[in-house]
Amino acid sequence: MHLLMDYGGTKFRYVLTDKLDGPVDSAAVTTLPSKEIELRNFLSQQLQNHPLRSIRLSFAGQVSGGVIQSAPNIGLQAFDVRGFVHSLDAGVEVYMDNDINCAALAESAARPGAVTAVFYLGTGFGAALVHRGTLIGGAHNMAAEIGHIPYKPTPFTCSCGRNDCLELSCSGRAIRRWCNRFDIKLEYYTLQELKALSHPEAGRIVENFTGGFCHGFHTALNLFDPDRLVLGGGIGLNEPDLLDLLHESAGQSSFSSTREVTIERSQLQEGSLEGTRLL
Ligand SMILES: [Zn+2]
Repeated sequence: MHLLMDYGGTKFRYVLTDKLDGPVDSAAVTTLPSKEIELRNFLSQQLQNHPLRSIRLSFAGQVSGGVIQSAPNIGLQAFDVRGFVHSLDAGVEVYMDNDINCAALAESAARPGAVTAVFYLGTGFGAALVHRGTLIGGAHNMAAEIGHIPYKPTPFTCSCGRNDCLELSCSGRAIRRWCNRFDIKLEYYTLQELKALSHPEAGRIVENFTGGFCHGFHTALNLFDPDRLVLGGGIGLNEPDLLDLLHESAGQSSFSSTREVTIERSQLQEGSLEGTRLL
């Protein structure tokens, strides 16, 4: 039996399954509030209660070599998950990666291509890259962190410590921070709401966001040369104009006459959880 987990900032989802080669059965997935999860206790219980062959974790934070490095949104620091599991049962395989990398594996498997780039635009701006079925992790498993490339200085501090990361202009959290700064009150904090306002700063927040988004997109195009770009996350899926913006931007990109890139929204319901099967 295999334990698949997706540990996000607000939700913790898991499922036990006998096989890894089929899609995850959404009806069998258990969802709990992340704040109720103590990962050591949870893993101990699951190991006690089930004959597990592997533990597979998609995690909303920095992960490298079986160790959770840090997770500002979850409040977990430096936890050697693989070491912990092996101290309880050395025979259980442990596979883990950050949630965007897991989602990218699932996106790439759903429709294989040469290079799949994934932009997950939600609270933050996550990106990942799969080259012919293989995740490009980098030396420290931090490759493709488009959200942290320098863009414009802001009055805010990013989780990485800088004040000019793309994510500070282009993410769900960025919209809220800029709105708070200019005392703009919205219901859902979307670009659509901002566009409908006559507030003098609203247009600037939108411009910064879309400019940053295109900057990230052109960076990804020129660095990775993807033939498929998948847009996901709460904002990526729900803001109506972003896909058109990418198409328009692709037409104006360097080498646009020779480069063909399919740009689409994610169709996966359980991307990150699904991707743990492929780790
Ligand atoms: Zn940053």
